[in-house]
Amino acid sequence: MDSPREAAPMEPCRICGGGLRPAFGGIVLDTVPVQYAQCTECDSLLLPSPTWLEEAYSRHIVPDPDFGALKRTLFIHRCLRRLRSKAIGLLPKRSRTLDVGTGRGLLLRLLLDNGHDAWGYDPYPQSIFAEDRIQTSLPDGPFSAITAIEVIEHTLDPVDFLKSLRTRLAPGGFLALSTELYDSAVHGPDWVYLAPQHGQHITLFSRRGLYRAAHAAGLEWIRSLNWDGKPFLHLLVPVEARVSRFRLWRLQRLHRAGERRHARDGWT
Ligand SMILES: [Zn+2]
Repeated sequence: MDSPREAAPMEPCRICGGGLRPAFGGIVLDTVPVQYAQCTECDSLLLPSPTWLEEAYSRHIVPDPDFGALKRTLFIHRCLRRLRSKAIGLLPKRSRTLDVGTGRGLLLRLLLDNGHDAWGYDPYPQSIFAEDRIQTSLPDGPFSAITAIEVIEHTLDPVDFLKSLRTRLAPGGFLALSTELYDSAVHGPDWVYLAPQHGQHITLFSRRGLYRAAHAAGLEWIRSLNWDGKPFLHLLVPVEARVSRFRLWRLQRLHRAGERRHARDGWT
């Protein structure tokens, strides 16, 4: 097996095409040495040439290290409720939605129970909540809302991925994707979001990286909603869409007040 130094990346940044330079080393899947690389153009952090992905996706880790999955799903559901509120009006009350990378299908089930014509896409479905609503190939649009929760950091072709979702948006529709943003001044080899135990987080966006990827896909990044003080759920719309700054300001206020209330309550 190559040493991390020998595997030093020379391929271009998969987000913006910029050059890469070594950032720091690491170990994924307990045994595989890797070299993280930072883009000199967009500052994103990548794992180039991830030859271990087949093993990474075939492993079944018990217990699942993603302990936050349920809490995260409930957060996303609260955000969607705010987007649906009368004051914001970005999500129609009864809309056709798509959840990409459905996983166990919890968000999909919640949206179905809310009366939405909700669908899921997952090439490796493991849903236990909405088996009959999941497709293994990306369904055609249009969708009023497309969610991709903890998906884009797994992709090898993030711009193509965003483009394929953009073409499936209905007029006035939006894309909500969650991923933690990389900041080289803050994050190092101990960043929890690297999640080396499963080796699947290979494309970690900086702010600039996400902006560039959205732009290259014909999307505008209009706002991020914070979770635990960090920008986490990123809202993107087609560049030709017009979402008023006032509506986004109201959304931010509604979101902050709602999350404060939720935190005070102290209940998941
Ligand atoms: Zn880049």
